[in-house]
Amino acid sequence: MSIQSENTFQAIISHAKEYGFVFPSSEIYDGLSAVYDYGPYGSELKKNIRDYWWKSMTQMHENIVGIDAAIFMHPTIWKASGHVDNFSDPMIDNKDSNKRYRVDHLIEAKADQLTAAGKSEEAATLIATMEALLAAEDFGGLKKLIEDHKIVCSVSGTGNWTDVRQFNLMFSTEFGAVSDNEEDNKVYLRPETAQGIFVNFLNVQKTARMKIPFGIAQTGKAFRNEIVARQFIFRMREFEQMEMQFFVRPGTEGTWYQYWKEERLKWHLSLGLPATKYRYHDHVKLAHYAKEACDIEYEFPFGFKEVEGIHSRSDFDLTQHQQYSKKKQQYFDNDIDESTGKPYGNYVPYVVETSIGLDRMFLLLLSNAYEEEVLTKEDGTTDTRVVLHLPAKLAPVKLAVLPLTKKDGLPELAQQLMRECKPYFHCFYEEKDAIGKRYRRQDAIGTPFCVTIDHQTKEDGTVTIRYRDSMLQERVAMSALKDLVMKEIF
Ligand code: ATP
Repeated sequence: MSIQSENTFQAIISHAKEYGFVFPSSEIYDGLSAVYDYGPYGSELKKNIRDYWWKSMTQMHENIVGIDAAIFMHPTIWKASGHVDNFSDPMIDNKDSNKRYRVDHLIEAKADQLTAAGKSEEAATLIATMEALLAAEDFGGLKKLIEDHKIVCSVSGTGNWTDVRQFNLMFSTEFGAVSDNEEDNKVYLRPETAQGIFVNFLNVQKTARMKIPFGIAQTGKAFRNEIVARQFIFRMREFEQMEMQFFVRPGTEGTWYQYWKEERLKWHLSLGLPATKYRYHDHVKLAHYAKEACDIEYEFPFGFKEVEGIHSRSDFDLTQHQQYSKKKQQYFDNDIDESTGKPYGNYVPYVVETSIGLDRMFLLLLSNAYEEEVLTKEDGTTDTRVVLHLPAKLAPVKLAVLPLTKKDGLPELAQQLMRECKPYFHCFYEEKDAIGKRYRRQDAIGTPFCVTIDHQTKEDGTVTIRYRDSMLQERVAMSALKDLVMKEIF
């Protein structure tokens, strides 16, 4: 990461804390690594992102319904899904500092250094070699790659490495009264929300009378014992996912994979986010369940990184659950197969998944929104305003209502506007401080519209609306305000 990007990123983290978006968890006890709490504006923004995703998945797609499954699930689920045996990352320890690294992160950091030094081709070769070795699970080869490139530990500065080993990322805990055999009571905190969807596939299909192709959407917490937890809320140990599993007829999964790959990028762009900051990354090393997979990557201040995954998961999960639970996970398709003239009949559906991290989307929006804008004043001097250009529909507060003074009946008029608007969208009321100061505070939390009630309001019922991004101000009828804001946020 360049020094400038590092500074911008640090400024975003400080801003997020100072303005009540994100706090380190358990801060008065010096925090808990890779766990964060969302403050008043952060929780609002997070909820708005979740709602926007939920609406675009369920309300806007007649063939997608939602569920809300429990975090605790039967432990055999994680055996069936492959997580007990396969949900692990190759790790390597530095023998001098005892610091543990994820092998891919270590190598990626080296590639970033090479790119920064103008050696992009060398960096690309390094990444390609790493991906091939990861795909082949060639741990000896990965260690050699680290040694050949003289990659050293950032703490000890040495290249004194252990062998590469696998490390399972699931958290476990005990259920109920403790017995002699700990394994009997062992439950996991789910590392993804998807399995809650798979094990409810037939419940949902039958009760909501869904016909293939159809989807099930879910948002909720997931937990991973990430070894290298870094980059603020980008990689957390407790985080939230927004996942949708789309069940399709076998043989059609390729078409649906393409469909969702495009559809999901469109969702990001529908928020007015810049297309130039997005790219697809097709996977070379496929997860244990995947047939085809790609990431939607975004250019964060620390480089292009995954924000969402699109995975063609075949019939892997349902077949596994069928085998482990001994309950059929089939669908009867009575549509006619033109090649045989008969119904398609019973089959285990194939699945295309879209999986996005809510916290990562939050960080993406914050990174894109944050600007330290230098303004030239009338006397030629400059001033900096910090502004969050959040999409209006996601902003924590939509409208700030600001009476110019605390007297002359202006607060009463302002309160009348509050009463009119607050059932429809989130409003904020403030009388204190000079108007310029109040505008700046709203800019810093990304409020798209501020309105000032002044003496003219009493005479002609008009107010001054001020737009966050352009800082333009215009007079509009107070009675038109609610509809004006509503139009911008839907
Ligand atoms: P990564 O390679 O970054 O670890 P992944 O490929 O393991 O991610 P998936 O299992 O595909 O991630 O999970 C889907 C989405 O969940 C990711 O695209 C990401 O947005 C989010 N996610 C995964 N792990 C974390 C985490 N530790 N903290 C925050 N979000 C996460």
